[in-house]
Amino acid sequence: MTVERVELGLGATVRCAVRGRLAPSPTGALHLGNARSFVLAWLSVRSRGGTLVMRMEDLDHPKNKAGAAEAALEDLRWLGFDWDEGPDVGGPHMPYTQSERKGLYVRALERLRESGSVYPCVCTRRDVEAGQSAPHEGDVLFYPGVCRGRFADYAAACGVLPEGRLPAWRFRVEERAAISFDDGFCGRQTQDVSASSGDFVLARDPQGAGYMLAVVVDDAAMGITEVLRGDDLLQATPRQMLLYRALGLAPPAFTHVPLVVSEDGRRLAKRHGDTRISTLRKAGVSPQRVIGLLAWWCGWGERGEELSLRDLLARYDLGSLRREPAVLDDVVRDMMGIAR
Ligand code: GLU
Repeated sequence: MTVERVELGLGATVRCAVRGRLAPSPTGALHLGNARSFVLAWLSVRSRGGTLVMRMEDLDHPKNKAGAAEAALEDLRWLGFDWDEGPDVGGPHMPYTQSERKGLYVRALERLRESGSVYPCVCTRRDVEAGQSAPHEGDVLFYPGVCRGRFADYAAACGVLPEGRLPAWRFRVEERAAISFDDGFCGRQTQDVSASSGDFVLARDPQGAGYMLAVVVDDAAMGITEVLRGDDLLQATPRQMLLYRALGLAPPAFTHVPLVVSEDGRRLAKRHGDTRISTLRKAGVSPQRVIGLLAWWCGWGERGEELSLRDLLARYDLGSLRREPAVLDDVVRDMMGIAR
């Protein structure tokens, strides 16, 4: 196992085994876009002899699709991926499926409640949308703290709200909560969370923790040292860092890579063509052609080249990854037989 030196600031370093993860959500089929981010996450860990964890992030019930979790694992294996721990192979941090780990999230929420870091909130999404004074970056809604201090008794006793409904739980963001971190690809990032999102929701009800809390609890519990994922989550990272701090946990190193987009600059969607890995496989496209395309998109291969994931290890160099998003255009559609 490879050990790395990790900077702690103030000149201190620790030696630390590299542990990365693949964290698909079974909300749809694996496609060329998420496959590319997973390839980079796999290469980053494997190129340093680290340990790779597979974690199924299935908390978003309304959007989960039946069979999508198993299908994602099958597609990834077909592409040449392997992992050392996961729902199908076990490991020291079982279970590796978030819906089976809810007790951990409930306990983390309790800790945050005890330290006064969260408060109950009865605002609906519609209320929050109606209260927006200025457009905010991405799809992040700014919350001005309407319910802060409103249900102090409930927060202390955790009883039933006067309205008789279960509240959501919001993280209390201190004024001018500027968070900075060095992203492994995007460089220095600074965001004042009190101005960008304000207090944010961690759980829809006392038992219903969502992505933001679960991902922090799990990455910490599973000893993850690096998170490499699509840059659609770059803006969410400072909120996650606030949670690490509030829970007294050490954050991993973060690296965010450009997404695959279509000609219109938007992330891949059905209207851009069927880019599902399973569709390509059924059409007789080989995994080497798919990996070859992903490598070409990264700037690490020739157009039309055929490569295995292991072949790509020798070319992996994050510093030379193309900075522009990879584009699914008609050249690629023709190359891969992707119909619109
Ligand atoms: N499960 C999330 C997704 O598929 C990824 C979460 C993460 O990498 O932090 O979008």
